[in-house]
Amino acid sequence: MSYVDEVIEQVVKQNPAEPEFHQAVKEVLESLRVVVEANEEKFRKDALLERLVNPERQIKFRVPWVDDKGQVQVNTGYRVQFNSAIGPYKGGLRLHPSVNLGIIKFLGFEQIFKNSLTTLPIGGGKGGSDFDPKGKSDREIMAFCQSFMTELSKYIGADVDVPAGDIGTGAREIGFMFGQYKRIRGSFEGVLTGKGLSYGGSLARTQATGYGLLYLTNALWKDHGMSLEGKTAAVSGSGNVAIYAIEKAQELGVKVVTCSDSTGWIYDPNGIDVALLKEVKEVKRARLTEYAAAKSTAEYHAKQNGEHGVWQYKVDLALPCATQNELDIEDAKMLVANGVTSVTEGANMPTTLEATKYLQENGVLFVGGKAANAGGVATSALEMSQNSERLSWTFEEVDGKLKGIMETIYANISDAAKRYDATVGGKTDYVAGANIAGFEKVVDAMLAQGVC
Ligand code: NDP
Repeated sequence: MSYVDEVIEQVVKQNPAEPEFHQAVKEVLESLRVVVEANEEKFRKDALLERLVNPERQIKFRVPWVDDKGQVQVNTGYRVQFNSAIGPYKGGLRLHPSVNLGIIKFLGFEQIFKNSLTTLPIGGGKGGSDFDPKGKSDREIMAFCQSFMTELSKYIGADVDVPAGDIGTGAREIGFMFGQYKRIRGSFEGVLTGKGLSYGGSLARTQATGYGLLYLTNALWKDHGMSLEGKTAAVSGSGNVAIYAIEKAQELGVKVVTCSDSTGWIYDPNGIDVALLKEVKEVKRARLTEYAAAKSTAEYHAKQNGEHGVWQYKVDLALPCATQNELDIEDAKMLVANGVTSVTEGANMPTTLEATKYLQENGVLFVGGKAANAGGVATSALEMSQNSERLSWTFEEVDGKLKGIMETIYANISDAAKRYDATVGGKTDYVAGANIAGFEKVVDAMLAQGVC
């Protein structure tokens, strides 16, 4: 059996009931097969893949807090410190009822390669809790965040592990967590990113993932001799990534006709009104029904199982920006039938493996989240640099660096794919390119640091 297959089998056996983690490992190792096979003897002797798929440390802890009725609630907190070969662990904190160890491990594993791709010195980690921030009062959110950080503060630090936001963790939650860290550790340091501007946050961090997705998509289209100007896009989600992807897409002349949340989706043939979307989602924290109520051209559709949602419309580019596995094989078939040119992922693993394969084999330009949404973590790393320097850069400075980083990421994944002759459906295999480019740097650092 090949080394890659052996390690995949081991991962499934040693990590039962963690399908998302299995999926992520399988996807990465499959596409690294060419590189691993070229170095099989050495990598095997060094147990390189076994080290790569085993987190350096995984922490699971109790998070007790008191709700507004005086009832004690108990959630579970996680931090997986996956790989520190190229820098301190870095990765977001997800607060969502679906969170479990397997999901955090899948996200942490992907983060290693994504962080490596940013060209910046950051290792891979991820954390979160099964706490559901929806419907909670500000006081309840604070009580949860303080309890969560009371435990987490033992394991993180500006040069050790620097968490950030993710689903359910926005500026409010980061603020509460930062305050608690400072109280407990007595240290004002860049221990979290996504902070408010008044206490060490970076300009353009809010916009970074969505903007970065479009900078990369733009580079991809340009490289293929096409322009985004005048094209139509479907976006899923209406959270942080989706909103700023829509904003930048519109700046680049793209008409975005959809967005969604977990209960339904909007189709607006006139283009999504991003100011209204921000008002509904960022200010009122309301459902998309409110968007539809305020905009006469918008249709609201409640989510129903088996429907294609935002992927059923005829568009040139698809930008999945909501959550994992939200674009399946049937959606992929629909997009291909409607002549989509590119799918670039704003969310983490939103496209199932089967759908990814189908899109690629049918000549769709496909760039996975590891490369396409790396703008968020790249700007987090820029926030770390600013904190270390005790300086704040202007919006233009950060945005300019972000654009440069995303263009470099595109160039690097394209180059890695070409070096290994990785093509699929007659097009460059950017998924393989991203995994190879991310992997090469991490492996180089791991081998240089000996058995650790
Ligand atoms: P948010 O919490 O701000 O938004 C998530 C959005 O996805 C919401 O609109 C949510 O709707 C929607 N959603 C959640 N579950 C579903 C579902 N099952 N079907 C349809 N819509 C759904 O998160 P972000 O925008 O920050 O993150 C989105 C994705 O991007 C995640 O995969 C995240 O890991 C990834 N990412 C985020 C980065 C960042 O900088 N924020 C960086 C890199 C990746 P509802 O409000 O109803 O829950």
